[in-house]
Amino acid sequence: MLFDTHAHLNAEQFNEDLEEVIARAKEAGVTNMVVVGFDRPTITRAMELAESYEFIYACVGWHPVDAIDMTEEDLKWIEELAAHPKVVAIGEMGLDYHWDKSPKDIQKEVFRKQIRLAKKVKLPIVIHNREATQDIVEILKEEGAAEVGGIMHCFSGSAETAKECVNMNFYISLGGPVTFKNAKKPKEVAAEIPLGKLLIETDCPYLAPHPYRGKRNEPSYVKLVAEQIAEIKGLTYEEVAEATTQNAKKCFAIN
Ligand SMILES: [Zn+2]
Repeated sequence: MLFDTHAHLNAEQFNEDLEEVIARAKEAGVTNMVVVGFDRPTITRAMELAESYEFIYACVGWHPVDAIDMTEEDLKWIEELAAHPKVVAIGEMGLDYHWDKSPKDIQKEVFRKQIRLAKKVKLPIVIHNREATQDIVEILKEEGAAEVGGIMHCFSGSAETAKECVNMNFYISLGGPVTFKNAKKPKEVAAEIPLGKLLIETDCPYLAPHPYRGKRNEPSYVKLVAEQIAEIKGLTYEEVAEATTQNAKKCFAIN
């Protein structure tokens, strides 16, 4: 069993061959996945997929890069969707200082609004962080995000920051980068964070693991992430697959 906690099967890159991608995922042992929507079109598609496939769940929120586009109606819509039985988390939300489409103060405001919404609907949050670790940690603390907790998605920070997030009730999710030869930090995180606090993901179609780096990523490749973590921790692949699946089910309150 494998749980891909962050997949964008709602991306247009999967329009042509979604059924084959899903078949390969099942063959690789993927038993559950969460499809993440982060704007109007991708949320709509995530909901369609969650309603069509029993093993697919949805996470709905607004991406920080597009924070400037989010309206009050969008926020209200996300709140309504949160009541849907297949919606298991709010996000991805957070801060992205790599791109400057949305000014920092607007990103922060939209991030805070979504944390408050998640607390209201009692769902965990999925955090996107790019070059903004300090501000993310500060806002999570100020907003009392530990109350709902959630996931630091495709975590790329230090083991020290990862521990700080674990103390705030967050799971650390590792993706393709942990398999890259030169990825020192994700490997340290895999080594130092207890297995009970780790999740695995693809973030497909992005960030394909070695040896597919640079190609389109897909949920079946999450197996490579589990194998890498097992190697780093000196555990069996089965132990990592089982533990990360149970962690994800606990995080998303899935039976
Ligand atoms: Zn994502």
